[in-house]
Amino acid sequence: MSRWSRSSSLDRAVDRRTEADLDEAWQRGVVLSIDGEGRIAAADGQALIAPTQGRRGANDIYLGVFDGRDWFASPESSLDGETIGWREAPADEYDPLAAAVFLARWNRQNPACERCGGPTAPDQGGIRRVCGSCGALSFARMDPCVIVAITDPDDRLLLARNFQWPPHRVSIIAGFIEAGESVEQACHREAAEEVGVELAELSYVSSQPWPMPRSLMLGFEARAVDSRIRVDGDEILEGAFYTRTDLAAAVSSGGIVLPGGASIARHLIDRWISAG
Ligand SMILES: [Zn+2]
Repeated sequence: MSRWSRSSSLDRAVDRRTEADLDEAWQRGVVLSIDGEGRIAAADGQALIAPTQGRRGANDIYLGVFDGRDWFASPESSLDGETIGWREAPADEYDPLAAAVFLARWNRQNPACERCGGPTAPDQGGIRRVCGSCGALSFARMDPCVIVAITDPDDRLLLARNFQWPPHRVSIIAGFIEAGESVEQACHREAAEEVGVELAELSYVSSQPWPMPRSLMLGFEARAVDSRIRVDGDEILEGAFYTRTDLAAAVSSGGIVLPGGASIARHLIDRWISAG
C-alpha cells in the first residue's frame, strides 16, 4: 500500500473555519511561505516552518492541523533565499505541503469569478473563494489524470520517453482525462494515442495528488493485447517493453532513468518489479 492509500496526516479542520476560528488558530499556529511557482521557503533542505507573527493576512491559507499544530501558508509573489519543491521535502510532510502548494496556486490563479467576472476573495481560510459581486462560491479543484503501467502478454513493462524529458528519462503512460470521458476510457485512449497499444485488462491501483500544476493522478495497471508498439512521435518519442532483468541492467548502466521515488509512476513501476 502506498502512503497515499492511507488516511491523510493533515486534519483539514473543515468545521473550524469561521473568521474567529481562523484568528484563534493563527495565534497558536505556524506558517510557511510559498512563491508564485509553488516553491516553499526552506532552510537546510527542509521547509521553513515558523511561528505566526502579527495579524493574519487576508490571503493567508489555513491548511489544518498537522502534528498537533495549526498550519498556515502565506503566498508570496517571490521568495529570496533557499526554496524547495514539495516533493523534495521529507515524505512525512507531503500531506500539508501538497495541500499548501495546491491551495496557494489555486487562490492566486482565481482572482475573478467564473460566473460574472467580479473579484473573488478567499473564504474559510482559502479552501474556497467567494465573489464580491454575485456571491458565487468556487472551490479548489484538481485536474484528474490517468497513469497506467502497461505490461504485454509476457509480463514485460512498457516504458516510454516524453518529448519534454531529457535523454534516457522514461516512465509509464499518462495523460489528462478529457471532458465527458470516464477514467477507464481515458486509459484506453491514452494507450492508443501515445503508443498504439490496445488494452485487454485494466484495474485501478491507487491515486496521488500532484500539485504541479494541479493534478490528481489515478494509477492503473493494464495488460496489452499484444507486444506491438507504435509511438506517436509527437508526445512520445520512443518506447519499449522491458523484462525485469532488462530494466535492472538498463538502469544500472545509466541507459534509462526512472521517475523519482515520490511519484506514483515510480510506485507502479516498483510494484511491477516486486511482483516478479
Ligand atoms: Zn460573480
